[in-house]
Amino acid sequence: MGGSGTAGNSPCASCKLLRRRCAKDCVFAPHFPSDHPHKFAIVHKVFGASNISKMLQELPLPQRADAVSSLVYEATARVRDPVYGCTGAISYLQSQVAQLQMQLALAQAEILCNQIRQDQQLLPNTLQYLNETATQNNHMPQFHNFTSFDNKNVICSDSFKKDSVYGCDLVS
Ligand SMILES: [Zn+2]
Repeated sequence: MGGSGTAGNSPCASCKLLRRRCAKDCVFAPHFPSDHPHKFAIVHKVFGASNISKMLQELPLPQRADAVSSLVYEATARVRDPVYGCTGAISYLQSQVAQLQMQLALAQAEILCNQIRQDQQLLPNTLQYLNETATQNNHMPQFHNFTSFDNKNVICSDSFKKDSVYGCDLVS
């Protein structure tokens, strides 16, 4: 069985604290060595020795060490924060995740804005092309009055659409 190490004259931390003889098959002995008395003291304070004993006995041997780690972690958190215990740490970390996700979204939006700005620098050429195309295909009489104007004064449906797609700070 699991009772090894501290069995005999030197009791495990649990049996020492509970002032009892450490049996050869003591369920605590493999996980609560006598040189770490604080580890057992804290789980005993929060969960109680008999509950820990029951929990460990219900588990297969290979899972007991992980269970003890989690019990120690939970007990430490409960002592540190009697109101929220572990959930205090969990909600703190969740809020950090949410904050970082927001920062990430802002950074991605900024990248997108920069890309759009870069595209806008190419826009004057596009506008000139659209203007020329509009002039060639123009069937509406009122456009004849505007075709000789500068790009910034041209009021044609194609360039107006382009403006609204790329934003309003087009400087030409
Ligand atoms: Zn023991």
